[in-house]
Amino acid sequence: MIDWREPSQLDRSPALRAEQDLDAAWRAGRVVEVDESGNISAGPEGVRFLDDPGQRQLDDIFVGTFRGEPWFARPVLRMDGESLAWRDIEPGQADPTATAVALSRWHLQSPPCERCGEATRPDLAGARRTCVGCGHWAFPRTDPCVIVAIRDPDDRLLLARQPSWAPKRFSIIAGFIEAGESAEQACHREVYEEVGVELTHLTYVSSQPWPMPRSLMLGFEARSGSASLRPDGLEIAEARFLSRTELARVVGEGSLVLPPPASIARSLIERWRVLPEVDVNL
Ligand SMILES: [Zn+2]
Repeated sequence: MIDWREPSQLDRSPALRAEQDLDAAWRAGRVVEVDESGNISAGPEGVRFLDDPGQRQLDDIFVGTFRGEPWFARPVLRMDGESLAWRDIEPGQADPTATAVALSRWHLQSPPCERCGEATRPDLAGARRTCVGCGHWAFPRTDPCVIVAIRDPDDRLLLARQPSWAPKRFSIIAGFIEAGESAEQACHREVYEEVGVELTHLTYVSSQPWPMPRSLMLGFEARSGSASLRPDGLEIAEARFLSRTELARVVGEGSLVLPPPASIARSLIERWRVLPEVDVNL
C-alpha cells in the first residue's frame, strides 16, 4: 500500500532542467519506455531500463531524480518486450512511474495549440510544450475526481459495480468534478445520482495521482443516514452495503474482487476494514 500523504521521493526541481545540466543527467541517468496505453517497460525485477538508450532525443522526458538517479521517459507507440501497467509496478517506484506515464501519454497525443491550433513541440525536457506558430506554452493538465467510502448506520461499507466492469469487480463510488463545482459538492452529487444516497459527515482523507490518463483522485469518507440504495442502472449496475465479515467471506470465496492494491479505492476500503467500529450517531 502506498502512502501518498508523505513527501514525494521524486525531485522535480525545475533547476534540473537547465540544458547544460541535462546532458550530464542523461549520461548518469536511466531511461524507461512508456507506450500510449500507459504501459511501462518492465521485466521480472520491475521497471526495465534501456540497455543502450543512445543519444538524448527531442521527445525524451526528464522525469526527475529518484534515489539519486536521473530518470528519463521515452514515449513509444509500441513497446518491444515486456511491459506492465502503472498500477502493477512495485509500489516503491510509484512516484517516478506515475509521472513518467502521465507525461508520456500527454506528449504522445501531440496536442495542438489551444490558442491558435498550430502544432506544438516538447520543451523544457518534457515539462511543457511550445506552439510552433505563436509560441504559446502548454502544461500537462490534471483532472480532479472524487472517490468516497460510504458507511451505513450499521457501519457497513457501500460497494458498487459499473456495468462495464468484470462481473465480480466492485469498488467505492467515484466521479469527475464538474465545472464550477467543489470537491465536496461533487461527492454529494455523484453519490446521489448513482445510488440515491444522501451523504452526511463528509470528510476529506487523502489524494492520489492516477495517470490513466491524467486524474487526481481526491479521497473522502462519508456516512449514509439509511441503508436503502437506488442504483441508476447507467453508471452503477449493482450496489450493496457489506459488513467486514461479509466482505471477508465474499472476497475469500472469490465471488467479489476488490480494486488493485495501488489504488486509493483500495486504500479507503482497507482503512474502513481496520478502523474500529465508530458511533455513527456522532
Ligand atoms: Zn499557437
